Amino acid sequence: MMSMAMTWWLVVTAPVMWLEAHGARVDRRVSPAFTWTVWASCQSLPPALLPQLQKRGWRIELVPSLAEALPLLADAAPRGWPDGWTWKNVDAVHLPSERRILFAEWRVARDGRWVRCHRVAGVVRHELAHAWDAACRQTGSFSESSRFRLAYQREVARLPASVLRRLGYFVQPTDAGRQEAFAELAALVWGGGSSPHLATLLRQSFPQTMAVVRSSWVGAAVPVDVGDVAASVVR
Ligand SMILES: [Zn+2]
Repeated sequence: MMSMAMTWWLVVTAPVMWLEAHGARVDRRVSPAFTWTVWASCQSLPPALLPQLQKRGWRIELVPSLAEALPLLADAAPRGWPDGWTWKNVDAVHLPSERRILFAEWRVARDGRWVRCHRVAGVVRHELAHAWDAACRQTGSFSESSRFRLAYQREVARLPASVLRRLGYFVQPTDAGRQEAFAELAALVWGGGSSPHLATLLRQSFPQTMAVVRSSWVGAAVPVDVGDVAASVVR
């Protein structure tokens, strides 16, 4: 049987060490269960993703809450969320201008109570897909690529009004809908997204767009520099 000390190391210490080796900041007030879930979700990503984000100066942060970590944002409204929602109600955010990706363990529910964030693994994949998309903006982000745009626009145009209403967040006008669709479809490809209740509808509505994500990911929009990746993993 595994000793307590060994189990503790594997479940509590190793995930923190792994995340910190990838440039993450882990606030020591977050629980081992939360850290472990973020770590486990990161294992479902393409292996080059985190090293590539790190190389571009992006940083993951595990924080108790967004309200505390981002006081200036706390009462502002996130893009595309229902009326009345503010950032303190939200479980994660990526900030392209600061190259930060924050995951919170706690958030304020709509009735004012503090609640534990419960969709952590899917949110990690969704936000890291956003971060990757934003990190590649200068060299060509995935959601801006012609293959992705074409497939997405074709499929959105075919959706009945009732489906468009249900998928609202992912079919917002302008770039927002495309960016949200990319983040969630990539998350689905990697193992599950931030909106599990819409997963089936998204798969049914965007088979071609999802195929573009699936087929293009490995030979990514930005070529993976294997030498740098290996060096950053070893470091
Ligand atoms: Zn999003």
